[in-house]
Amino acid sequence: MYIAMVSAECAPIAKAGGLGDFVQGLARELSLRGNQVEVFLPKYDCLRFECIQGMTQVYRDLWVPYYDQSVRCDVEYGEVDALKCYFIVEHARENFFGRGKIYGEPDDPHRFAFFCRAVLEFMLKSDRHPDVIHCHDWQTGLVPVLLYEVCQGLGLTHTRACYTLHNMGHQGVVDESVLRQVGLKPDRLMTMERLLDPGNPQAANLIKGGIVFANFVTTVSPRYAWEIEHTDQGMGLQGLLQQYDRKFGGVLNGIDYTVWNPESDTHLPATYGPDTLPQKALSKKALRERLGLEDAAKPILAVVSRLDRQKGVDLIRRAIYFALESGCQFVLLGSAPEPAVNDQFWRIKRELESSPDCHLELGYDEELAHLIYGGADMILIPSVYEPCGLTQMIAMKYGMVPIVRRVGGLADTVFDANYSDKPFEERNGYVFDELTEAAMEAAMGRAIGLWFRFPEYFSQLRVNGMRADNSWNKPGQQYLDIYHHLRG
Ligand code: ADP
Repeated sequence: MYIAMVSAECAPIAKAGGLGDFVQGLARELSLRGNQVEVFLPKYDCLRFECIQGMTQVYRDLWVPYYDQSVRCDVEYGEVDALKCYFIVEHARENFFGRGKIYGEPDDPHRFAFFCRAVLEFMLKSDRHPDVIHCHDWQTGLVPVLLYEVCQGLGLTHTRACYTLHNMGHQGVVDESVLRQVGLKPDRLMTMERLLDPGNPQAANLIKGGIVFANFVTTVSPRYAWEIEHTDQGMGLQGLLQQYDRKFGGVLNGIDYTVWNPESDTHLPATYGPDTLPQKALSKKALRERLGLEDAAKPILAVVSRLDRQKGVDLIRRAIYFALESGCQFVLLGSAPEPAVNDQFWRIKRELESSPDCHLELGYDEELAHLIYGGADMILIPSVYEPCGLTQMIAMKYGMVPIVRRVGGLADTVFDANYSDKPFEERNGYVFDELTEAAMEAAMGRAIGLWFRFPEYFSQLRVNGMRADNSWNKPGQQYLDIYHHLRG
């Protein structure tokens, strides 16, 4: 099957969070199963170019409709770990992809709308007819809309669209000029049945467009699928998802074990697996040396996260002090997009600067993330909501014990050591329900207490997590089943 992945991110070359991991992992899995897979990305100036092999121009002078004019683009091709990637190079006055970052520009809706139109224009001009275009989140929500409103009439007749919702907290609620920019007709589309935002009668909702026009819609875990269809986690679109229930479902994400695997990870001083767990101590030592922590008989509790309100930043701040009071060391790697949140964490960092038991690294650092997974003992994820969450799955693969709030994909992957009804071999962490300090501290207290008092039982929990299969194997097959269903 011929599958085109159209996305704003793909790890390791363009990654801001789990979307990048998802596209890389699923695309690789589908390729390994013998499908023809191509990934389409903007050629950001901040791509990790050192990870791209054989970059060459494959199409010159692609004229992309832009309001009532067109903008000249080129298309380049390169391989990322054998994954075939196409990059849209635009020569617009606006310099859409030369901003030094993936997201966070005032004209983001226009930047990504342009990208959607450019990718489809390239498919038409280069005579590509994917069986399925798989697109993601609000940035590429216009792809299914354009496919049916414009490109089907121009020749993309048998291509079907699969659309994955990675986060309902960002819906792309935009001015209708975004539609005119790409050649869509607002008169036709700005209705409640189509793109009109339910909360703002002047605005178009790009995620809504993707849901209405795609042939199949998925989200990244079964629990989150239920939450966004039946609770206010749908953030205004729950009614729409109920309406399209027959073409909607949750598929639990995998993680890519060629990237996230302590048995082969070159970022660690020594590799280890479930049968060689004592070797993990070498990573713990290296992590302490790297971050200036004391070598002591204490567990390391870590947070690796975007410091977004979604991630429970207030609880994370409290957890730093609770961990230290409970005899743990605490490590945080996080980047805060919101200046007020960033300031709060900087204040704590300065306050605890001289502590031998605490280190806060405020920024984004892929290599350090690997060493933290390798060296730390527990990971805390107290999210307000969590569509899937990859960090708990990565952490478990590295023998960490997760402490999580029972929401979204966290509820589908972490099973409480004391209270789960799963057999013991499937229990792998600690879970709490209420979004309160007391609930979080109770779960942290149980995990930390186990580390100190019952180390063998703690090791067994680590091994249970390491042995769980969170690879792309099963979700890869589930996505293929969806694609076949769409073709059928
Ligand atoms: P989200 O997509 O909501 O950010 P996920 O748990 O799905 O959350 O994915 C997070 C991914 O980003 C993981 O691969 C995690 O290791 C990585 N990550 C998050 N914050 C950082 C950071 N500050 N530095 C390096 N990697 C990070």
